[in-house]
Amino acid sequence: LFLTFEGLDGCGKTTQMRMLAERLRASGETVIETAEPGGTAIGGAIRRILLDPANDHLSSTAEMLLYFAARAQNLDEIVRPATARGEIVLCDRWTDSTWAYQGYGRELGVDVIRSLDRIACRGRQPDLTLWIDVDLETSLNRAKCRNEETDSSDRMDDQSRAFYERVLRGYEALEAEEPGRVVRVDGRGDLDTVAGRVWRLFHDYREI
Ligand code: C5P
Ligand code: MG
Repeated sequence: LFLTFEGLDGCGKTTQMRMLAERLRASGETVIETAEPGGTAIGGAIRRILLDPANDHLSSTAEMLLYFAARAQNLDEIVRPATARGEIVLCDRWTDSTWAYQGYGRELGVDVIRSLDRIACRGRQPDLTLWIDVDLETSLNRAKCRNEETDSSDRMDDQSRAFYERVLRGYEALEAEEPGRVVRVDGRGDLDTVAGRVWRLFHDYREI
């Protein structure tokens, strides 16, 4: 089973993924957690290129291709082997992030994302995608706090509010396009409340 978490910066997907992994392990499952870009050593190197402020002149197309390069490596090195062993793979972001951030956010369009996904992922899609949905204000505030805490000059500093509005439109369009795979989770409320929603959706899916 290949399950991915999606959503705006600061929506809580990393935390929710960790909470689900722990709960699944406690019930005896073998769970592999990965993230992108950066779930592999090569992905980590690519992530450093992507997030380095010195690379703020990185072109949108080069950025998109780097995300797919990291993903192709993650797929072959982690996702395919683990799912073949029957393990549950949880991944923090996947092609849907590129759909939302580069396809909608950077306005590269979804056709190019679909084409590249066919090349990089060769038909392997997540079995289930949980889109942790929070409103734009929440996302911008949380991401801002995080940047202040870590003093990291994330590329989002120079990205406008309009950019994140488009990213959110991208997630909405994705849910409309693939309602069977992409499930919206209300990301409002405290961690345990959201974790409860995630747990229930996971079980609904598994019972099918
Ligand atoms: O996964 P995480 O939320 O840590 O993402 C790190 C940064 O990469 C975020 O600032 C996000 O906006 C950006 N990102 C992006 N395009 C993607 C995935 C992430 O711009 N496809
Ligand atoms: Mg995160």
